Amino acid sequence: MPDDDTPARSVSIVLVGGGHAHAVALACGLAAGRDTDIVLVAPDRFAPYSGMIPGAIAGRYRTEEAHVDLVGLCAARGVRLVTGRAAGIDRAGRRLLLEDGAPIPFDLLSVNIGITPDVSAIAGAGHATTIKPIDGLIGRIEALNQQGRPGHLAVVGGGAGGVEVAFALRNGLAGSRVTLVMRDGLLPGHGRLARHLIRRALVRQDIATIDRFTVARVEPDRLVAADGRYLTSDTVLLNTGASPAEWFPATGLALDAGGFLAVGPTLQVLGEQHVFAAGDCAGMVQTPRPKAGVYAVRQGRVIAANLMEASAALRAGRAARLMTYRPQARALAILSTGDGRAVASWGPLAASGRWVWWWKDRIDRRFMDDLAAAGQPRSKS
Ligand SMILES: Cc1cc2nc3c(=O)[nH]c(=O)nc-3n(C[C@H](O)[C@H](O)[C@H](O)COP(=O)(O)OP(=O)(O)OC[C@H]3O[C@@H](n4cnc5c(N)ncnc54)[C@H](O)[C@@H]3O)c2cc1C
Repeated sequence: MPDDDTPARSVSIVLVGGGHAHAVALACGLAAGRDTDIVLVAPDRFAPYSGMIPGAIAGRYRTEEAHVDLVGLCAARGVRLVTGRAAGIDRAGRRLLLEDGAPIPFDLLSVNIGITPDVSAIAGAGHATTIKPIDGLIGRIEALNQQGRPGHLAVVGGGAGGVEVAFALRNGLAGSRVTLVMRDGLLPGHGRLARHLIRRALVRQDIATIDRFTVARVEPDRLVAADGRYLTSDTVLLNTGASPAEWFPATGLALDAGGFLAVGPTLQVLGEQHVFAAGDCAGMVQTPRPKAGVYAVRQGRVIAANLMEASAALRAGRAARLMTYRPQARALAILSTGDGRAVASWGPLAASGRWVWWWKDRIDRRFMDDLAAAGQPRSKS
């Protein structure tokens, strides 16, 4: 017998955010059908692909090459695309609340909205531009370019994102001088060899580095450290910590220690049957990993399978048999140095050169080609 959860009508699946996981989920088979409606809520029809954004800033890709067109992907899967931003979840009423617009009811919800920058410890952060969220980054940098001479750019944050953006700016903005400002050293969490290869590339490209500089304040023309040191700069780009959406706590959903949606191996939020989360906005509490697109991409297939199965189970009034996601112990990172070369980093191993950039370019283009192909109308043969 169907249980109380069984919807008499078709099952409504709501996807929040067109991040990497949802794009992959749609590409690998998540689709609306006779008994399943799917809505995707995203702020824009074009979703950035982080692997290619630094290359776009460096002038190696056109902007559109580094974005997924959600319109094509949604149309091919029978999914309704709603342009908007989520602002909350009415858990008891099973409704997604939007910043603007009527709430959207759901039977199953999946959240893939990435992170927001954590600038809470930095006074005057409004004088800086943030690298994350990555959507709009190219626009923010183009605006800087149009303001005239790029001058001296300070990129704050020695993680992979900050490093790649520093190289991209150096190569993409003619005449720019770039300083990479770090608090915890270069590429924490990467091996010694990768750090050495990146440092060598920084020197070769004349990108200055400053370490143990904890930015306390941004002023219109300089950065001030907690210990009183300062660095003059025309433009500051911040790639410091990651914060969850500020509306997560009010949802009453389980959160991890960082405030991200706490998920188990099925990517269901802990204690929830109907709410899933993937990518950077989710915290895998049993198998914690650094926030990186590679995990979001691999979670996409599991999100697709589990939403389809959960939907079928709801209609049939039975328990869902869900897949589990096991993240790899360590992920390959390939960091572009903006000059037609890249550094590959995997645990203690690392390599650099033009062939590494060629390898990265092939992986990224193939990924985007697969998403584009999934978004093509199907032939009626
Ligand atoms: C410069 C840079 C380079 C990087 N390069 C790599 C790399 O090469 N490899 C790698 O593994 N990782 C890389 N990363 C990390 C990577 O960007 C993230 O881990 C990845 O984007 C996370 O994917 P996601 O699907 O969780 O979220 P995102 O890709 O951030 O997507 C989230 C989407 O949700 C949308 N959204 C946000 N808020 C809302 C809302 N309220 N309502 C609806 N939609 C919303 C956003 O518009 C966005 O499109 C890089 C990061 C940076 C900054």
